[in-house]
Amino acid sequence: MKKMKFGTLCVHAGERPDPSSGAHTTPIHQTSTFVFDSAEQGAARFAGKEDGFIYARLMPNTPTHAVLIEKIAALEGAETGQSFSSGMSAITGVALSFLKKGDHLLSADVVYGGTYELFESVLTRLGIEVSFVDTTDLEKVQRNLKKNTRMVFLETPANPTMKICDIAAIGEMTRQTGALSIVDNTFATPMFQKPLQLGADAVLHSCTKYIGGHADLLGGVVVGSHEFISSMKPVVNLTGLTMAPHEAWLCIRGLKTLHLRMEKHANNALEVAKYLETHRKIAWVRYPGLPTHPQYEIAQKQMSGFGGMLSFGVAGGIEAGRKLMNSLELCSLAHI
Ligand code: PLP
Repeated sequence: MKKMKFGTLCVHAGERPDPSSGAHTTPIHQTSTFVFDSAEQGAARFAGKEDGFIYARLMPNTPTHAVLIEKIAALEGAETGQSFSSGMSAITGVALSFLKKGDHLLSADVVYGGTYELFESVLTRLGIEVSFVDTTDLEKVQRNLKKNTRMVFLETPANPTMKICDIAAIGEMTRQTGALSIVDNTFATPMFQKPLQLGADAVLHSCTKYIGGHADLLGGVVVGSHEFISSMKPVVNLTGLTMAPHEAWLCIRGLKTLHLRMEKHANNALEVAKYLETHRKIAWVRYPGLPTHPQYEIAQKQMSGFGGMLSFGVAGGIEAGRKLMNSLELCSLAHI
């Protein structure tokens, strides 16, 4: 296939008329199971000797999921991927597939709250050692890489503080030690950051955010090499962390406009960030596209745009913040 631009990939990657009906749009394969032509074919599929669909919990789930994976893998520059019922189940799938008792997980100290709690309370209960490290400080990362460090988990830009860490520099360190580097790319999206090109081993998303794009689904995805994704097969197949077919279809539809939405989000966010920076009642603003961002240089190096998320502090503390939040008209007070 010819090399396509990002926007063209958003629309066309993975898409083809449905082979059985000719339907132009990918159908929602709302089925739990698939019929085999013969006992021999069923046996071959279960043995992994023949590609094809078996049962919607088992990789590669359904043809709808397969289209989603082809599209998101094309956007991230990955060989393949796997979808999940949420961003948290994608993270759980990666953790359970690659970490075992006695392994060390080095995580960025600022990650989405659910991720932090999963690592701190659930993984430690399984005997996995977890350290939360300021990954903006490369010396600290180097110092905290141990013999048993099996995985380094980064989220950049991080929810909620917009902290940025250097994916290429940390990827270089993990290559030396043999640890896996995993990047949560939810906030940047492949439109603005391609962690695999920067040297990460795998990338994950909460599709609930920009991939879906309409706040009407829960989903997650992991992309990487064939080897990485096939290593997840036992956990994926046996835990039922699977995305539902309808959500896969909504993600495919959402991705068709990812490039348009992200461009607009980034333009709007920059305007809002610049405005807030000049406002006398705002104490600080963090947006990776502002030169005042503490990791502005790294953002410039590894991102091609800065997304739609920003954080800011209100002068006057908690009371002033509460007043602002209770006065919002267009913004919803909600978990994102
Ligand atoms: N990663 C990031 C950066 C997030 O913001 C979130 C959710 O808020 C998650 C992961 C978890 O995703 P989900 O809510 O789809 O489980």
